[in-house]
Amino acid sequence: MTGMELQLLDRGTIRSDLNFALDGAVTATYSDRSPDLEYGEYAVWNLLVDHPEATVLWDTGSHPDAADGHWPDSLFEAFAHVDADERDLETALADVGYDVSDIDIVVQSHLHLDHAGGLYHFAGTEVPVYVHRRELEHAYLSAKSDAGDTAYLAADFDLDLNWEVVHGERQLLPGIELLHLPGHTPGQLGAAIEADSGTVLIGGDVAFLAENYEAGRAMGSSLIHDSQALAESIRTLKDRERRTDATVLYGHDSDQIERLRGTL
Ligand SMILES: [Zn+2]
Repeated sequence: MTGMELQLLDRGTIRSDLNFALDGAVTATYSDRSPDLEYGEYAVWNLLVDHPEATVLWDTGSHPDAADGHWPDSLFEAFAHVDADERDLETALADVGYDVSDIDIVVQSHLHLDHAGGLYHFAGTEVPVYVHRRELEHAYLSAKSDAGDTAYLAADFDLDLNWEVVHGERQLLPGIELLHLPGHTPGQLGAAIEADSGTVLIGGDVAFLAENYEAGRAMGSSLIHDSQALAESIRTLKDRERRTDATVLYGHDSDQIERLRGTL
């Protein structure tokens, strides 16, 4: 027993074309030149870890004004988070009996706009925000220049935050190990958590859906920063999964999140 309880926080759903999640899920063929695209709903979740030494929040979800101009139109059109305001961080925490002021530590898996949009709650506070060094570098490069990726918004993270920069793998707290899982982004963090209910491996956007991880189906190329690094990160997770009989948490798999809610 590690005395650690986990709660999945419901931060609503992103709506998008399935081809982003599963590369070539729908493609035209000679005999069907205009097949119907598949438009789906994908969970946005955060994880609350009630550890004996600290209350940890994993990721901060989308900004509540995602639909009202906080997100650029092109990104909202591609990944419409229409209920980001209804499912803001305060509401999702209240669902499980917590308040923003209860959070002692924040960990950001990465700084994309559907993961870092609640950081403003911690601006001007002493709450440490753990992030991998390469993620912070890449996020600033992306948001402040024409280089990098488009899914980083300076307004989400260019704030007065108490950054705790992670350089490699390290223990966050007893029973919580941070893992560097690059590929989706250069500095993505995952975690191995020894919870009372068993080992949980946070894979996050290493796999958008279960199929990416379990069936080896590639994500769309726009979700991949470095495919070789991503393959290596998946191997790392699979190796740990085998050794620990862990539950692997995927980035946006609504079916998995539905199934696991209340059971972790
Ligand atoms: Zn994501």
